[in-house]
Amino acid sequence: MNLGIDIGGTNIVAGLVNAKGRILKRTTFKAGKDILNTLFRAISDVKTRKIRGIGIGTPGPINLEKGSVGKMLNLPLKNLALRSMINKRFGLRTEIDNDANCFVLGEAVYGAGKGCKNVVGLTLGTGVGGGIVINQRIYHGRNNAGELGHTTINFDGPKAKCGNHGCLETYLGKKGVMKLARGLKAKEPLDVYRLALKGNKQALKVWKEYGTMLGIGIANMINSLDPDIFVVGGNVSKAWRFFSKSMMSEVKKRTLFEPCPVVKSKLGENAAVLGAAALVR
Ligand SMILES: [Zn+2]
Repeated sequence: MNLGIDIGGTNIVAGLVNAKGRILKRTTFKAGKDILNTLFRAISDVKTRKIRGIGIGTPGPINLEKGSVGKMLNLPLKNLALRSMINKRFGLRTEIDNDANCFVLGEAVYGAGKGCKNVVGLTLGTGVGGGIVINQRIYHGRNNAGELGHTTINFDGPKAKCGNHGCLETYLGKKGVMKLARGLKAKEPLDVYRLALKGNKQALKVWKEYGTMLGIGIANMINSLDPDIFVVGGNVSKAWRFFSKSMMSEVKKRTLFEPCPVVKSKLGENAAVLGAAALVR
């Protein structure tokens, strides 16, 4: 058994995960200001004696050698030596990785990509995260490979926070969706999803266009990596039924060869916790 921790902007989720990828115990804490203390509490809450190790998925860039996390967006932590701090506190093997990488690893080991060698995925939320799993292991490059949300789909598109112009996240992140949804009674992408459920024409059009842009991004990734399966998750993937058609037609149009299946996340909101637990293997 392992512990899997998912550090998010609002919540910290900890799960006790067995070898088959079942969550035996799960706890959620508001992240709050004192992230570290909350993290310690969450771990203590689900810990048992039989644990092999602790895996942690966190936003922000990772330094694998140091086991540290760079600046986390929305969280008051910076260059924190997270791995050794947790290791010292609990005396257990500890691994850390980027949260989107953990999402894809979770799907690769226990979810939609189970039994596949190579899995690539995107998480759609406020931002757009990505990950590459090769031979059931996260591909890191030097450290931070898999930042697929920052691949360019429009070379003279608007400037993004990351410094790039027209990257996927500019269009598919919360801001991008809300720009398409201008005029609708919606505060966040899931409101636009709810409107689409009611048959609102503009909302349906938003998701159609969303799928087209997502498909362009996914086609680039499939052309580059030709994985066995491509997994799409994150809370915005709830709108899958409204964007998957235009997404798939774009993927087929832009890939040089028969593309791999592109599927919705199977593990849903537990993917990152399960992936974090799978870091300790
Ligand atoms: Zn970007």
